[in-house]
Amino acid sequence: MRILISNDDGIDSEGIAALARAARDFGEVTVVAPVRERSTSGHSLTLHKPLRIYDRGNGRYATSGSPADCIYLGTREILKTLPDVILSGINHGANLGTDVFYSGTVAAAREGALMNLKSYAFSLMFQPPFSATPLHFSTAEHYVREILQATLSENFPAHTLLNSNIPNLPLAQVKGVRLARQGFRFYSNDVARREDPRGKPYYWLGGNYLGFEKETYSDCHVVEEGYVSLTPLTIDCTDNKFYTTLESSFPS
Ligand code: MN
Repeated sequence: MRILISNDDGIDSEGIAALARAARDFGEVTVVAPVRERSTSGHSLTLHKPLRIYDRGNGRYATSGSPADCIYLGTREILKTLPDVILSGINHGANLGTDVFYSGTVAAAREGALMNLKSYAFSLMFQPPFSATPLHFSTAEHYVREILQATLSENFPAHTLLNSNIPNLPLAQVKGVRLARQGFRFYSNDVARREDPRGKPYYWLGGNYLGFEKETYSDCHVVEEGYVSLTPLTIDCTDNKFYTTLESSFPS
């Protein structure tokens, strides 16, 4: 089995090393990841500037591109053939609910799903500050193995990926894997305005996590309760209910 791995935290992150270790139990691993952190870069492709590939040896390649660029280059230029599986992560931080629209980690897996490859995104759920938290990537590694073992033989529907979030806990404290629907997370939308040393303003976007929508039981709940969440995501974002409503006004 040929496995292509990427992430959005960069090729030197702890999470991608843990993911590659787990993946080697299942097949031949190639890592193609951004040379620097590209978190929250979404599903961007670089079309207006050149991209570089840096061969790090032992099947590891860094690129100057986004996570989606890495899957694009990894399949078409580095492997020159389609892999059987795409893995992305293990992200330093959750990709729950609406995070999946901003996430570079999920985008790398989605780029695989667009090619109808079995694609997975894995993230370790913890809150900043990152430096103050002991990171339990060994727990995440354990559950990557468990989820791959249980799902690699499944036929994935067209253009579908699996998104998994692992609580940042010692292995013995995690209660197992739960299927969950995509939830909705809330963030503060403030902008911090500051001045640079030359008196010119610059801005930091807010984005402090404020909790999640409690009405529908979701991936956000599951991870808070100490389970690993597993959510199948589709590419088709059509709202079928509203589509039907609009059919009374427009031909379909
Ligand atoms: Mn990240």
